[in-house]
Amino acid sequence: MGSRRIAIIVAAGRGARAGGGGPKQYRTLAGRSVLSRSASAFLDHPEIDAVRVIIHPDDEELYAEAMADAAAHPKLLPPVYGGAERQDSVRLGLESLKDQDAALVLIHDAARPFVDSATISRVIAGLSAAEGAIAALPVFDTIKRADGADRPCIEGTVSRERLWRAQTPQGFRYNEILAAHRAAAGKVLTDDAAVAEASGMKVSLVAGSPDNMKITQAEDFGMAETLLGRKATMQEYRTGHGYDVHAFEPGDAVILCGVEIAHKAKLKGHSDADAGMHALTDAILGAIGAGDIGDHFPPSDPQWKGAPSRVFLEKACALVRERGGAITHCDVTLVCEAPRIGPHRKAMRETLGEIMQLSPERISVKATTTEQLGFTGRQEGLAALATATIRLPMEE
Ligand code: MG
Repeated sequence: MGSRRIAIIVAAGRGARAGGGGPKQYRTLAGRSVLSRSASAFLDHPEIDAVRVIIHPDDEELYAEAMADAAAHPKLLPPVYGGAERQDSVRLGLESLKDQDAALVLIHDAARPFVDSATISRVIAGLSAAEGAIAALPVFDTIKRADGADRPCIEGTVSRERLWRAQTPQGFRYNEILAAHRAAAGKVLTDDAAVAEASGMKVSLVAGSPDNMKITQAEDFGMAETLLGRKATMQEYRTGHGYDVHAFEPGDAVILCGVEIAHKAKLKGHSDADAGMHALTDAILGAIGAGDIGDHFPPSDPQWKGAPSRVFLEKACALVRERGGAITHCDVTLVCEAPRIGPHRKAMRETLGEIMQLSPERISVKATTTEQLGFTGRQEGLAALATATIRLPMEE
């Protein structure tokens, strides 16, 4: 029994109905591919541990191009090939997770790029009380059944009572849905919930979102762009900055941006004295107007003595997510004569990325000296400055 929550993004279709130049999941919407938008919703979600995209064998290059902005994301697994039908693709995707310690899987169509964080959370929460949980919406339109003629005529009106429209993501326990898919091989079923139903699993419905549309036809791109325009005007960007200083004291290593570096001194402080991570944490808290590190982790409280600073940074990132926001970029400058930072910058960006669940491409670490002037120049201590840029939904 695994322990991780893994999202499978199904992107192996040919998307013939959407017309115009190749599979629809690789087309761009306002400069970013449909696939990247869908995958990022899961990559950026704190309750998702890894993301696997299922692609068509002909689409390796399209995939690399479409996912370039997320390629370095620590949660992104390499893509695997799907099969002839969607159902085959999902089964192959599930088989590919055998060594990934999966407990729960969320299966999502790449062609639904507007899935939001709250819908993903509701599907995960739904799994605590059922064997499957899918996003869905009640049907409000009156439903007609028609004959199969060229100019169809109504045969009857279907009661819409208790009818729901299924969306994705659809979540299941890994072992159970893998077994259900193996058992269903050869049968034609339209979604993963149908595969689960066929094997007798209880699948519950949780609220989807009207914005979580599926791009199926060429016309849908126009609608998707309108939706995107509406969302863009409802977001604002904020910047926060942070500054921190710690003194040196006798020791043999410092910790900066989560990386231990051998040095002739250590940094003095209540926690692990990681000035870089403290400045970054304050920058994030500043951008959302949530006070500073001392408000959340008072130095007077003994439980934070010697604490690893990642606890502070994780808390700041969690506060951003609670507000429905996302960190788009951050920039840290370390000010010291020694130790040398350059050889450790890559490890720092990766470590911060892992803690913040953010691509290292969105994290910058720089260093400078003060030409031997002042307290940093005299090597009495070091300083760190940081900025963080955050995207937040605008208050109505
Ligand atoms: Mg500090």
